[in-house]
Parts: sequence; C-alpha cells; structure tokens
Amino acid sequence: MNVTTLNYPINTTPRVFLPGSSDVTEIGAAITQLSNQVHELSLIIDGRKVKGGGEQVKVFLPHRKDQQYAEIALPTKAQINSALSNTLKVREAWSNTSMAERVTIFNKIADLIEFKYKNYLVAATMVGQSKTVFQGEIDAAAGLIDSIRFNTKFAAEIEKMQPPESEITNITLDYRPLEGFVYSITPFNFTTTSAILSTAPALMGNVVIWKPSITAMLPAHILMDIYHEAGLPAGVINLVPGYGPEVSEVLLEDENLAGIYFTGSTKVFRQLWKDVGDNLAKYRNFPRLVGETGGKGFVVAHPTADRDKLVSALIRSAFEYQGQKCSACSRAYIAQSVWNDISEQLISTIANLKFGQIEDFKNFMGAVIDQASFNRLHTVLKEIAGDGDIKVLAGGKTSDEVGYFVEPTLLLSNNLGHRIFSDEYFGPILAVHVFPDEQYESILNAIDSSSPYALTGAIFATDEAAIRFSLDKLRNAAGSMNVNDKPTGAVMGKHPFGGSRASGTNDKAGSLQGLLRWTSPRVVRTVTNSTTEVLHPHQT
Ligand code: NAD
Repeated sequence: MNVTTLNYPINTTPRVFLPGSSDVTEIGAAITQLSNQVHELSLIIDGRKVKGGGEQVKVFLPHRKDQQYAEIALPTKAQINSALSNTLKVREAWSNTSMAERVTIFNKIADLIEFKYKNYLVAATMVGQSKTVFQGEIDAAAGLIDSIRFNTKFAAEIEKMQPPESEITNITLDYRPLEGFVYSITPFNFTTTSAILSTAPALMGNVVIWKPSITAMLPAHILMDIYHEAGLPAGVINLVPGYGPEVSEVLLEDENLAGIYFTGSTKVFRQLWKDVGDNLAKYRNFPRLVGETGGKGFVVAHPTADRDKLVSALIRSAFEYQGQKCSACSRAYIAQSVWNDISEQLISTIANLKFGQIEDFKNFMGAVIDQASFNRLHTVLKEIAGDGDIKVLAGGKTSDEVGYFVEPTLLLSNNLGHRIFSDEYFGPILAVHVFPDEQYESILNAIDSSSPYALTGAIFATDEAAIRFSLDKLRNAAGSMNVNDKPTGAVMGKHPFGGSRASGTNDKAGSLQGLLRWTSPRVVRTVTNSTTEVLHPHQT
C-alpha cells in the first residue's frame, strides 16, 4: 500500500432502526444472544486468552441488576508482570514495521467492524453499558469505524510532515514510536474511546497494555478478537483487566513506561500523574501523559436564541445515555425572555421521557452503569430535595428495584455558586440558572469561572455580534465549543475532541494532533558535501 495516496475516508452514516426494519431484527437477535449468557472474560496476552488467577468479579446488566452477563477473572501480580514482559518482547519487531503495513492492518480492523462485527459490537455496548440502540450505533458502529479509518489517514499525513528541503543537507524526520510501552486506560462509557486509546499508539508503532473498565470488558474482548483477526501481531496490544490501582502498582514501577493514554475521571488522572512524578527517576524516558478527564458541559442561551433548537439540544445533551458523557450538558444559563417561552415545554417533555430496558427501542434512556454510580446519584438527589436553594422542576427520583434507574432531572437555582453548577455528577441531572436579559455579559463571566472543567460548551444566539462576543469571552471555558447546537456528539475525524483545565491535557483524541503524542521523532541528516577544512576563513 502506498500511504501517501490514501484519501480521507467518508464518514459512516448511522443507521436509524426504523420499527420493523431488518436492522432492528438483527440487533435484537445479537442483544438476546449476548445478554442471555455469562461471558468468561479475562486477560489476553500474546494473542491468547489467559484465565486470571486473582479475584473473580461478577458483572450484571445495569438495567436488570440481578442478571449476570459476565465473569471476569482478574490477574495476579505475576500475570501482570508476564503481560508486561510479553509486550516488551514484541516491541522491536513491531516498531520496525512500516507505516504501510500498520495502516493496512488498521484499515482491515475498520472493514471487519463495518462488514462483519458491527451488530455484535453495538449489541455488546447496549447490553453492558445500557445504551439505547441509537447511542450504541453512534458509539460502537459509526464512531468506531470512522475513528480507526481517519487515524490511518492522519498517521499517513504525519509521515509526510518533513522539514523544508535544503540544498546542502538532506534532513528527514523518522517518526519513531516511544521507547518502551504505552499504558492505555479506558472508561466505561464509550466503545469508541476504548478503541482509539488501545489502537492509536499501536498505529504509530508502539506496544500497548490496555486496561479497560471492568464494566466495559465485553466490547473490549470483541475488539481484541477483531484486532487479531485483522492481522495485528500477537502481543502488540495486550489486555489486562482490573480495577486499576493493582495494575498500576506493577506498570508504573517499570523503567519502560513510555506513556499513559487515559480517559476517565479527573481524580484518577491526577493520582496517576502524581504516581508517575514520584517514580520519575526510575524511568528511561519522561513518560508522555495524555488524559481526557471530567466535564461540566454548559449551554448559554442569549435572548435571540432559537427556542425550539435550544429545547432539543438541552434534552438530548443532558439526558441521552443518562448524562454519562463527559460532554453532557449539566448546566444551562438561560435568558429570562427565552425561559418564559420554553420552560413549560422543556419541563413537560423531560417529565415524559421514557426510560427502562434497552430492548424496548422506544425508550429514550437506559440505566446508569452500576450500583456505585446509582448510590452516588441517589445521595446527590436526596440532598438536593432538602436544599432550599434549589427547585426540582422535573424528575428527582431513583429506583434500583429492577435496574439502576435515575429519572431525568431538571433543577432551577438562583445561586450561581451552588455546586450543581460546578461539580460533575455524571448522571441525568441538568441545573438551570435564569438571568435577566440585560445581564448577558456578566453571566459569561460566571460560566467561565464557576466550574474547574473546560471540556464542552454551546452558545445559542442568532445575533452574530453576540456569538462573536461570547466566543471571545469563553475562549478558555471549553475545548469544544458549539454554536447553535448541543455540546455532545463529535463527528469522528472532523471534530477533534478534548478540553483543558480540569478536563485534561487537551491532546484531542481522534485527530492528527492526538497521534503526534505517540511518536518521538528522530532527525536523520545526511550530508553529501561535508567539509574537509578545520580552520574557518577568518582563522587562516
Ligand atoms: P474512572 O476514572 O472511574 O475510571 C476510568 C478508568 O480508570 C477505568 O478503567 C478504571 O478502572 C481506571 N482506574 C481507576 N483507578 C486507576 C488507577 N489507579 N490506575 C489505573 N487505572 C485506574 O472513570 P469512569 O467512571 O470509567 O468514566 C467516567 C469519567 O470519565 C467521567 O469523569 C467522564 O467525564 C470521563 N470521561 C472523559 C472523556 C473525555 O474525553 N474527556 C470521555 C469519556 C469519559
């Protein structure tokens, strides 16, 4: 394959699953097949499944909490060490493969997902993560296929990035992988994120130890099978399951740690950064630390905002996938005149949103991921119910009788300093503040300063000057800013994603910039007419 002539891929159109369609029948069959068995999941080292010798963890469906669907055998310390040795063993051979070889394998992975495994992956993501069919589709089919295809094109573009030609010397950049291994740590909420974080370093020639979330192990195992079926050599990506600290205890001690590719909470990333700092003298290189972390997505509505678009954006971005997206809108600042027009419709639509089992495609939401998340949200809502600063306009209740269900909840508060406007709850909770129309400028200051996060935001206005002014004022408040559309949703390849402040290192996963973090270029300078002189002209 000649990678220099590779074209940009065309984005995949997500299926819409119209009632009665064959898409619905096929996904339904895959859901039944995957949820009606207990999957034995464990380590994958050197291309082989190895049963962990440690704790056995039972995993249950979030929406039917008594139905077990997976059993995970966690590794012993010796098994984690053996995964590490195996990873390092294949490093040299993999790092010497050409970009063309790697691009061919990764494009094959995208093809296999698109033409053979997408229903399986979408169903696994719905079953384990409690996603509706459309949320499963945009994550585990369209987003996944596109993220891998676009990355191969970006990698090829990187190879073409060379210094300007010189008449005297020939200088080329050799895009080496990092010297050591990359530790990829992925969250429960996106199969696409799992795929990007496990494959992007490998595409650039690195070897990877991948630790998925315990509650996202089913799609992770399917992805590993696909990687190998596409021809990825055994050991290039090794999968080690775990809660995290026990895996880090081994991997962060190793001198070959070359980088951490993390997506998850700010708290965990800060801990990893600290642990790496404490071990810095042990490492052969300074490890690259890339982290996409928490968020407190916002929407601000100017008096000129389009009311209908605003209502749709607020509901979809706050409540789809139960608000468990780092990009979810969890705070909205709405001008009084706009609020007067939309509040009734907003409240009644939210109050009537259906949630429940993922097999019922009419449901707008499923369950939150697990008992711990449910308990956290239950406590938050209990506290809010007794808080005089907050009015609950819709929802507010929880039930874990059948599964971990939290009602889509709309809160109203005048207290801009309240933690509902600063803390990430990672659930279906939207806090609204209504401000007098003439105070638009000061509300932008409050948005910028009230939360430590800076991941996503959205400005709704039809007045061009107001849009420009808001973009300037909120320049550092979000790494992904949207004008007249919701803050969630990224078109893979076209919409690099990431934020700064407490939201991460802003290295933009799914972009050329993101891939650059996984290469350590060497300059090769070849000179044909080097001098034979010792002294310079002024010295003779
Ligand atoms: P989490 O931080 O609890 O877990 C993330 C991963 O870290 C999991 O695999 C977990 O097992 C692992 N982990 C925990 N402690 C560890 C340790 N000491 N060493 C190694 N691994 C460790 O997050 P989560 O609940 O899975 O996901 C939700 C969080 O992720 C939210 O804060 C959300 O905003 C964030 N997120 C951010 C983005 C983004 O692009 N910014 C995308 C998705 C999710």
